[in-house]
Amino acid sequence: MASVELKDLKKSFGVVDVIHDINLSIEDGEFVALVGPSGCGKSTILRIIAGLEHPTSGEIRIDNMLVNALNPRERNVAMVFQNYALYPHMTVAENIGFNLRLSGMSKPEIARRTEEAARMLDLINLLDRRPAHLSGGQRQRVAMGRAIVRDPATFLFDEPLSNLDAKLRVQMRTEIKALHGKVKTTSIYVTHDQIEAMTLADRIIVLNQGRIEQQGSPLELYRRPANTFVAGFIGSPA
Ligand code: ADP
Ligand code: MG
Repeated sequence: MASVELKDLKKSFGVVDVIHDINLSIEDGEFVALVGPSGCGKSTILRIIAGLEHPTSGEIRIDNMLVNALNPRERNVAMVFQNYALYPHMTVAENIGFNLRLSGMSKPEIARRTEEAARMLDLINLLDRRPAHLSGGQRQRVAMGRAIVRDPATFLFDEPLSNLDAKLRVQMRTEIKALHGKVKTTSIYVTHDQIEAMTLADRIIVLNQGRIEQQGSPLELYRRPANTFVAGFIGSPA
């Protein structure tokens, strides 16, 4: 687990300001949902925390340490994407262990961790399969396995369930909730699904055009949205 802090974060692409002065503190073990319309900067914030993108200015601290200059591997975060991009020629086990192999970990240790992650995600009987022979939900679980196996202090989820059908989304939501209950890894979860945000998150952060519009517990936002914009995302109908 780790705390994550963003201080006066700004990001521009060329002349376009995408993130304006974001200040945000996420506690150790907290599950935070980041919601807001398409293009408001959600993925950019995750990518900046992961180290895949550099801010124009501002600080990123993980466990109180300034990480601006650290590369993604040194930040101990793992990201789960919407288009989970599994390697088609690799088995489930090889996909899950891929990042560990890159890090130079010993084969027995990789096998042990892969098995542990596979058990947690109900993939233990599928370790020899290739992605083409998996269901959508199973593929998404492999993508999560690839993140979990690294035992990261922070999980970043970028709309991980949006390619799944409604029934699977509900099932995976329950699994993510259970997983967080078990491992308590600090999680930042981007979604445009109100129910996902309400059921998973300790705190919801509503973004609008690169700024935080409102943040609070799901109940607070639902009961007392600050404005019609927030109400449109989370609030009860006025
Ligand atoms: P969200 O995930 O909330 O949909 P993004 O963070 O992906 O939004 O994008 C925020 C804004 O930044 C969008 O207007 C997008 O077009 C722009 N943007 C994102 N990445 C780049 C990039 N690499 N180059 C130029 N513009 C980008
Ligand atoms: Mg996005």
